[in-house]
Amino acid sequence: MAANMTFDALKQAVQEGTVDTVLACIIDMQGRLMGKRFHARHFIDSAYDETHCCNYLLATDLEMYTVEGYASTSWSRGYGDYVMKPDLSTIRRLGWLEGTVMVLCDVQDHHTHADVPHSPRALLKGQVARLKDMGFQAMMATELEFFLFEKSFDEIRKSGFRDLEPISAYNEDYHILATTKEEHVMRPLRNHLYAAGIPVENTKGEAEAGQEELNIRYAPAMLCADYHTIAKHAVKEIAWQKGHGVTFLPKWHKDRTGSSAHIHQSLWTLDGKPAFFDASDSLGMSALMKHYMAGLIKYAGDYTYFLAPYVNSYKRFQRGTFAPTRTVWSIDNRTAGFRLCGEGTKGVRVECRIGGSDLNPYLALAAQIAAGIRGIEEKLELAPPMTGDIYQAQKAKQIPRTLRDATETLRKSKMLREAFGDGVVEHYARAGEWEQEEFDRVVTDYELARGFERA
Ligand code: ADP
Repeated sequence: MAANMTFDALKQAVQEGTVDTVLACIIDMQGRLMGKRFHARHFIDSAYDETHCCNYLLATDLEMYTVEGYASTSWSRGYGDYVMKPDLSTIRRLGWLEGTVMVLCDVQDHHTHADVPHSPRALLKGQVARLKDMGFQAMMATELEFFLFEKSFDEIRKSGFRDLEPISAYNEDYHILATTKEEHVMRPLRNHLYAAGIPVENTKGEAEAGQEELNIRYAPAMLCADYHTIAKHAVKEIAWQKGHGVTFLPKWHKDRTGSSAHIHQSLWTLDGKPAFFDASDSLGMSALMKHYMAGLIKYAGDYTYFLAPYVNSYKRFQRGTFAPTRTVWSIDNRTAGFRLCGEGTKGVRVECRIGGSDLNPYLALAAQIAAGIRGIEEKLELAPPMTGDIYQAQKAKQIPRTLRDATETLRKSKMLREAFGDGVVEHYARAGEWEQEEFDRVVTDYELARGFERA
């Protein structure tokens, strides 16, 4: 299921008057949908071919600030345009917005119409193509975790982000009673996404008051990233419609469990055979899978930035919280960075548990595939699995502990420079550096409370 509407069906729906609005969206560096709302008539007459946006959209921060230091665009280069090229295979009717469909767009150079290399969809497209040349496709799934709050986004903002009562009063992990009380948000979410061509498997309560998880069936990598992005957007919009705020911040309170975005992945041959499976291996893992996993583990530091892109992302990595800190693998053990799932079956796969709920799925999946490919190319040997409480495994390698470290490691990554290009690595390293610079400038509530009187 690619999307849920062909271009011809859209034209028909516009003639019949059941669709009047088309959202044409690109994915920005933060993994958000950015774009325009078209009158459907104008879209089917002309904008379906191409439309435009300011090229600062791939050079801003969360606040839309015009950050200096990017080679691709700047005040001195005048902030020109990019082409937004609608990918007509992604048209979806959005049941939660009346008369509205959405189409995702690729981002192209205004003059050459080449894909803009640092645009998230282009980056993932590039790694998917590399895999295809090797005879494989990546099947991936991302789990979305987030918190649902009692109050609305506006009320929470007006309270200075202090009025933060989660929607439920207790840890609701797998809890049916607590999640029944949240069905006014979660049921329309599941049903609208499913109707929009996004194969929702389930939602469940997670390991904290008000924490939710949404699972979507695995799919080819690009589709998986599209699903994640649209689903995250829908969570915010549907919660807003119902008068609630939600957050995908990985750690909104020091005493509350963080939110993650685990990534399940397996390689398949182009004719649909599970290339990670080998019945003769004791765990059912093929040699290819072992090389791929060894690549994921060896290069985890290189790509941690893409799994944890903000200062806050690193607050989630605490021992005893289910968020991993060490780059080792284990068999069905939730304390390691990488967990083997479905061992001994055709569904054998690896789950990377490092990513936070704030990751941009296109960048995260592209970086994981690049590391896996390098593992295959280098025929890396997979170390034996670890067992027990890996938080205690003092000798096991750690992921970078701060955004500063992760950005530095990204900048030095030969593997990612070869996979993505120097320009792309520099672009995102600048983004990480900027987040740190901004954080370093502010004075926090914590510093005031700790030092105002006593320092
Ligand atoms: P768990 O509950 O142990 O996390 P699930 O069975 O819920 O595991 O699966 C988690 C995710 O893994 C789901 O989104 C599912 O679609 C995905 N998945 C299942 N099989 C594969 C596979 N072969 N490759 C990639 N992802 C897969």
